[in-house]
Amino acid sequence: MDCVFCKIVAGELPSTKLYEDDQMLVFQDIAPAAPLHYLAIPKTHIPGVDGITADNSAVIAHIFEKIAALTAERGISDYRVVSNVGEQAGQTVRHLHFHILSGPKGGPMY
Ligand code: AMP
Ligand code: ZN
Repeated sequence: MDCVFCKIVAGELPSTKLYEDDQMLVFQDIAPAAPLHYLAIPKTHIPGVDGITADNSAVIAHIFEKIAALTAERGISDYRVVSNVGEQAGQTVRHLHFHILSGPKGGPMY
């Protein structure tokens, strides 16, 4: 499948990883829109929030549990979690991802 995030999961494209387990990956956004900008993704290919179903939603709970833990571990208490759905909303990669944005206010998305 021609999906940039599936290629990152497969190790076919490089990424700066913050966290990885059997279900998910957190890595640095290549074009940060805030001083801290990570992307949290499921390893399975779900196109976006619009592709979440009763059959695959367990990984979403897992991703949010890890977002809470990873930020807390680093003393990050103020941040945004964003997921764009569809081109008009700014989705450019059709593999579900949650932007984690933090840092001093001022960037385009934080
Ligand atoms: P969105 O526009 O909401 O679909 O977000 C896609 C995000 O993926 C953008 O913020 C891009 O900067 C980021 N991105 C695209 N390709 C890569 C890559 N190879 N490594 C890391 N981040 C990427
Ligand atoms: Zn994918």
